[in-house]
Order: sequence, then structure tokens, then C-alpha cells
Amino acid sequence: MTKQERLIDYKRRVLTCKDCSLWETRTNVVTGEGNIDSKLVLVGEGPGENEDLQGRPFVGRAGKLLEEILLENGLRREDVWITNIIRCRATLKEGGSVRNRPPRPQEVQMCKKWLEEELSIIKPKVIVCLGGPSAEVVIHKGFRMTEERGIWFKSQYAPFAIATYHPAYVLRQPGRAFDELRWMLSEDIAEARRKAESQDEEVAPEKTISLPPQEGGEQLNLF
Ligand code: SF4
Repeated sequence: MTKQERLIDYKRRVLTCKDCSLWETRTNVVTGEGNIDSKLVLVGEGPGENEDLQGRPFVGRAGKLLEEILLENGLRREDVWITNIIRCRATLKEGGSVRNRPPRPQEVQMCKKWLEEELSIIKPKVIVCLGGPSAEVVIHKGFRMTEERGIWFKSQYAPFAIATYHPAYVLRQPGRAFDELRWMLSEDIAEARRKAESQDEEVAPEKTISLPPQEGGEQLNLF
């Protein structure tokens, strides 16, 4: 099967998934989208309200900020592949309102096969994890953003993986903290773009992962 055919087949199956309880409250299953031949893949946490309504990843305020930052770095969102670790919105009812909540470990675990299938089709050279929960899946468990942000790791899903702040987290910062984290997010995207562009020439490190993938990725000190 071609990449396109595999993706169509994947979407046909994932759109009816009921493997965790999030299917009960979703409007749409939100799969990844973008350039299926991109060397660069961005992996966020999960759909929010707008994403759930539109059935597309990163279309709310966080998505707008991400698009802005991609453009600053010479990339349109359709140049890269954008996806999440879970495909249905995780919500919490509080009084009369519904708000987003972080996905639970079992929800992440149940949805991991879909993320893995997407990544096996796209075959990225570089993955940017947006936020800690994504880094815990793609890089290693117990990932600490304050200490490990901006460091290159080898992942089971790509030769190079890096984690940075989720745009929604950046948007929640007040004043100068917003400026500072926005700058760091942009710097990390710039670094990831350079890394992806250099992949035609650069040979992936030959080191093997010393820990099981679910326990830890290997930090690369080459860059
Ligand atoms: S979040 Fe993932 S595993 Fe859960 S129902 Fe949606 S697609 Fe299926």
C-alpha cells in the first residue's frame, strides 16, 4: 500500500474507535494532518473544544500561536505533520460547564497504538513534543521539561526527538513569562527545522537505546 492508502485505511478505522471512554463525550475523532512526506512531526497532547468541534488538531488559540511561530520559522502548518497523543477530547464537568482536562494514563495508553500507526506511516526524522505528556510518550517516562527541554533524544519513533513548551501553556503565562516561553518555543521549532533539513546529509546516530522505550529514551550529546 502507498502512504496515502495506509493513511486512508488508518482513518477509516480510527474514526470509529471506542477503545477508551473518551468516545462517549467526543464530537469528532481528531487525527493528525499535514504533509505526509514531512520529515518533521509535531506531537501535542490532545484535542480541545475547537479541535473536537472541527475534527482537526491545533485550530484553537494554541493552534494560532503555533501557526504564527511556524511561519516565523519559514514553515506553514501544511508543511509539517501535526498530531496528538490522544484523538478524542478529555473533559471534566464542573457545575454547568465543561472544561478540558489532561488525559489519564489509561487513555494515553489506549490511544498510543493510533499515534504509533500514524508515525509508522509518516516516518519522521524529527519529532517535536509539545508539552510534557507528549514527551513522556515519545521520549521517556518521567520527562522533566524544566531540565530536558531543548535536548535531543533518540526516540523509538524517530532518530531525533526534542521537547518544548505546549503553546497552550505558553498562552497561560502572564507578562514577561509569556514573552520568554514564546521565544523558547520558537527557538526550539527553529532548531527542529534545522535538524530536519540536515537529515539528507546527516547520518542518524548509531547508538542504540539502552533502556526499554517505555522507560527511557537516550539523550544525545552530539549537538
Ligand atoms: S482517545 Fe483514542 S483510544 Fe480513546 S476512543 Fe479516542 S481514538 Fe479511541
